[in-house]
Amino acid sequence: MRTHYCGQLHSEHIGETVTLCGWVDRRRDHGGVIFIDLRDRSGVVQIVSDPERTPASYADCDRLRNEYVVKITGRVSQRPEESRNPRLPSGEIEIYADRIEVLNAVHKPLPFQVSSADNESVREELRLKYRYLDLRRERMARNMQLRHQVIKSIRRFLEDQQHFMEVETPILTRSTPEGARDYLVPSRVNSGEWYALPQSPQLFKQLLMVAGCDRYYQIARCFRDEDLRADRQPEFTQLDMEMSFMSLEEILELNESLICHIFKTIKDIDIPRPFPRITYKDAMDRYGTDRPDTRYGLELVDVSDLVKDSGFKVFSGAVASGGIVKILPIPEGNAAISNVRIKPKGDLFQEAVEAGGQGLAYIRVKEDGEIDTIGAIKDNLTPEQKAELLARTQAKPGHLLLFGAGQTAIVNKTLDRLRQVIARQLGMVDQNKINLLWVTDFPMFEWNADEKRLEALHHPFTCPNPDDLADIKNARALAYDVVYNGLEIGGGSMRIYQREIQEKVFEAIGLSPEEAYNKFGFLLDAFDFGTPPHAGIAYGLDRFVMLLAGEESIRDVIAFPKTQQARCLLTGAPASVDTKQLKELHVASTYKPKS
Ligand code: ASP
Repeated sequence: MRTHYCGQLHSEHIGETVTLCGWVDRRRDHGGVIFIDLRDRSGVVQIVSDPERTPASYADCDRLRNEYVVKITGRVSQRPEESRNPRLPSGEIEIYADRIEVLNAVHKPLPFQVSSADNESVREELRLKYRYLDLRRERMARNMQLRHQVIKSIRRFLEDQQHFMEVETPILTRSTPEGARDYLVPSRVNSGEWYALPQSPQLFKQLLMVAGCDRYYQIARCFRDEDLRADRQPEFTQLDMEMSFMSLEEILELNESLICHIFKTIKDIDIPRPFPRITYKDAMDRYGTDRPDTRYGLELVDVSDLVKDSGFKVFSGAVASGGIVKILPIPEGNAAISNVRIKPKGDLFQEAVEAGGQGLAYIRVKEDGEIDTIGAIKDNLTPEQKAELLARTQAKPGHLLLFGAGQTAIVNKTLDRLRQVIARQLGMVDQNKINLLWVTDFPMFEWNADEKRLEALHHPFTCPNPDDLADIKNARALAYDVVYNGLEIGGGSMRIYQREIQEKVFEAIGLSPEEAYNKFGFLLDAFDFGTPPHAGIAYGLDRFVMLLAGEESIRDVIAFPKTQQARCLLTGAPASVDTKQLKELHVASTYKPKS
């Protein structure tokens, strides 16, 4: 139907007659001369019609309204000097319309303006309900393009340069162990039995290694029934990979090349290699989190040993009950952060409470090097302790030292949160920096206090560090996460490929041999038939694209996302179904509508 795309046209086409199809982005009537911005996927071009130069099209042009679908034939002309638009690829030219055909009109008022020229901010619910209109808007169209480009660059790299092969794995499957709640699908033909939607293709990709696939990848849809946060969706996309016969070093190297390839193709940025690495323990000690943002300093300092015998009960009590006391030292903090903000009702105090902390003790270092604080700390520190405290935190006059005291996990969580908030507020985060790093040496297990058992920190197919096998419950894992500006974008591990070790790990997480065989017998059996050493990783593609797009919500880089309530506002899913359907599926509902 057309000869060109709108965004393709430029001064080289001057003099040609072209036919374009697209949407009316905007229509302006300048006293008899009508200007139309015509939009298609590639961009926008200006169409002109006036009674003298284009009498045949003028009446039709006059009828056009925003978002009409039209086919326009006309001559490409140079724009007059004063109306050239250097910001638009087609800004040098315009098209004198000889013929305009309306392919479809708009029959109702638009729920919102699509044209970027309107720059209208629209409620997200409305955008999601009319997502097809929202996706026409420039920002969303750009994000979809970017997502496509990222996936394309991944495919090119993995297939053309690294011999990976894409394999699709089942969506209807058994529960997969990523630790979230499953989405279940009842089986009609096998009464009383259920499929689970995959939380990840983990076991299938490992079995593909047993099958000799050697290098697998998939742009894989995963499903996790979790309470949603800003960057979570019930279904999301992973770049999922698995490789045989590669050492940990080789795996990290290949992944660094992949990430660098993406940044180069998408942003033309060279990322220095190798990426820095930090162990889990170091990350927790220095930043209080396993995904540290190291674009700025503000490192935490442990002073538990220094204050464990102090007369200040909050500190000594914390250490006595197995917890810690840590400091977040803030250079120039005295000038930037007032006491009101640290005391109850203050915003920083509130941040601490929201992270689970009880409150905030602090010390200010005065200009003469003396310290200023609330009584209880000051009165209970000896001059030696004071001196050691300042030395250890490298505190100078002007420094503010914020204390966290209590259970290790809570102190870390509190100070991690404060560190991020304060860094942002004090303008310490360089938005132009791209900070990529590996976190390694995770513990294999963590204690699940609710279920009173150990659970795998990554998943139970992660290989324990061979040096730690004697005490498997405290073993480090051969696992690695990639962190990008303080967000985890990917994680993976070397896998277990020997049956005895896999059985030991199942035992450690409290699975009896029968339970283990019942759930994962197919994997254990496979280990008896020649399993190669293998390893893999998965990237959260939505989040990665979100960061590359500079967006703050993954919903803005997913074509048809769900809301925080896991609803699709476009189709109305989830929805109720007929009793007949439920019966066929052998399912009875216990749901009682609230009257
Ligand atoms: N299956 C893991 C996940 O979804 C990633 C991996 O270990 O490859 O997090």
